[in-house]
Amino acid sequence: MLNIEIQCGSIVLVVLVMYLSFREKRINLLSRRLFFYTLISTLISLIADIFSIFCIVYAENLPAFLTIAACKFYLLTLITEGYFGLLYAGTDFFEGSAFLKFRNIFGAILGIGCILIIVLPLGYYFDDKCVYSYGEAAYATYLIVAVFLISTFITGVILGKKTNPIRRRAILLWMLFWIIAATIQISNPEYLLGGFASALGMILLYAELENPKEGMDRVTGLYSTNTLRELMEDYFERGKSFAGMNIVINIPNKEVTTERSVLIAMSKYLRVFKKAYLFRNVGQELVMIFNSAAEMYAAYDRIRYDMEDNKIFGDMENNMKPVLKFYLMPSSNVAQSSDDVLLFHSYFAEDLTDKDCVVVDASAVTRISDFRRVKAVIAEALSKNRLEVFYQPIYSTEEKKFVSAEALARIRDEEEKIVMPGIFIPVAEETGMIVQVGEEVFRQVCRFIREYDIRKLGLEYIEINLSVAQCEKEKLAEEYMEIINEYGVDPSMINLEITETGSISAKSTLMRNMDRLRNEGVSFSLDDFGTGRSNLDYFVNMPVDIIKFDREFTSSYFKNGKARQVMASVIQMIKNMGLKIVTEGIETKEQLDDMALLGVDYIQGFYFSKPLPQGEFLEYIRKNL
Ligand code: C2E
Ligand code: MG
Ligand code: MG
Repeated sequence: MLNIEIQCGSIVLVVLVMYLSFREKRINLLSRRLFFYTLISTLISLIADIFSIFCIVYAENLPAFLTIAACKFYLLTLITEGYFGLLYAGTDFFEGSAFLKFRNIFGAILGIGCILIIVLPLGYYFDDKCVYSYGEAAYATYLIVAVFLISTFITGVILGKKTNPIRRRAILLWMLFWIIAATIQISNPEYLLGGFASALGMILLYAELENPKEGMDRVTGLYSTNTLRELMEDYFERGKSFAGMNIVINIPNKEVTTERSVLIAMSKYLRVFKKAYLFRNVGQELVMIFNSAAEMYAAYDRIRYDMEDNKIFGDMENNMKPVLKFYLMPSSNVAQSSDDVLLFHSYFAEDLTDKDCVVVDASAVTRISDFRRVKAVIAEALSKNRLEVFYQPIYSTEEKKFVSAEALARIRDEEEKIVMPGIFIPVAEETGMIVQVGEEVFRQVCRFIREYDIRKLGLEYIEINLSVAQCEKEKLAEEYMEIINEYGVDPSMINLEITETGSISAKSTLMRNMDRLRNEGVSFSLDDFGTGRSNLDYFVNMPVDIIKFDREFTSSYFKNGKARQVMASVIQMIKNMGLKIVTEGIETKEQLDDMALLGVDYIQGFYFSKPLPQGEFLEYIRKNL
């Protein structure tokens, strides 16, 4: 019997498509789920079709209600298939609540259709040429299926302009199959082509849209970055939270081990984690998405353990072995979108240079948002002249008067509140904005020296902080001399405070800059002495004139006996080298007297004054002349 043969062939096709689509761990996207439901309902419908044909053919030997039930069941599967097909097409065109509305409207139509099929009468007919059912229940089915088909078609035509043309074309072609098959079948009931048309349609959709290989990376066989994005977007839209791990693979020796072989080895190994979705990210990075933080941490521990155990890349020599670094995001709740997640990636890239694992949790994200906020405050301060310089007086124990001051940057925010350098200097340093900040401070100080002729007030020079990034600038000396000349300031009124720089190349640039500026008369101080940032062995060969003791260092002197001895001998040594000393952070009379006794030349601290805005500072100095 021709009909059964076609139906059986169709079943084979649908099963094949199911196998091809779902042998890989399936990405849990809405569209993938609906594709799956459409496939399943197509399959059930084909089986129900065959079963109902048998029932009709052998109706004489069967109870009447069974044949009718089998026929009605077939009709029910038919409209269900149409419904899922429509929803599947709809995922492309509707999002979020619009999709829910779309689903509800057609869900209601499906419900009505089911009731009609169940309650309305149905008859069946067969002769040696054809088998079919008829009656109100059958007509209701045709009507509902027609509604679904036409709606899918209209959705594709009208709304499809918004979506990608390949998807649109595939869905329209699929509908065309159906409509042609339905037309043939209605005019020639002996050809039962509906089932065959839907099987062909599924193959078409599979090939064009749902072939999982489409969203896969060729090298590793894992899902691609695009699929990762799609999955994350789907999760965020549905409010489903997840955990993510991004593995960065660094290869120490690219001649011995190729990137490709390492990626393949790693991705093969990762397949043991059955609960995770695996993706190839850009470059040498692989991503794992988990349902929970616990699953992610378990995998993380296991990977580190297996790495130690040489289970991933085999017995490579240690210096050839790829190095793994990790971003861990225990909960996606810290992000609002897949864009956010990708942003984290770039934000924390820096942290991974000296660590092998960065945890992107709520506190890390707060850090980012604080960082962004402060960055915006700095940018605004620079463009709207909200950067201000405060001055803290420096007292000479020998001359018993104020001889200089340190210039300290402040930002006045929108609400006139002062933002302290402890907040914005680190951000300015990290973003490189420090160069502009430093230059602006320098200009303001030059203008100040020029405008108020501060020598008359007994001030011999102003100390200005230089950050490491500035010292490493090749042209720093030229640029600063240009500003000094622009304002007509005597270079000997400028003292630049430096701290220890990290690398040797940076140090040689700094030395060149210092030499040039010193030749013009600028002097230098070594700031933050006694902290990690500046130490004994560093200043020995640095051409500085003044050593500034950090507040921490000074206060340790007042706290314990050993530190007193160290301090006393350090002071002696520095003085023997012909350098001057400033102690910072002097807050009481006793501290002042103690330091003077030890032979410290200059005192800076709250005992005299906090850093003051320019006007108040001038007033203070005038009062204490
Ligand atoms: P610093 O250069 O070591 O400056 C001394 C800091 O100690 C100042 O903090 C000052 O207010 C504080 N200080 C002075 N005496 C006392 C005291 O008796 N008690 C206490 N508790 N603190 C005292 P400030 O102004 O908050 O500046 C902090 C740091 O920010 C500076 O440390 C400096 O490293 C940096 N900074 C400030 N302005 C600039 C700038 O224009 N450029 C650069 N690159 N860094 C700057
Ligand atoms: Mg300083
Ligand atoms: Mg200091």
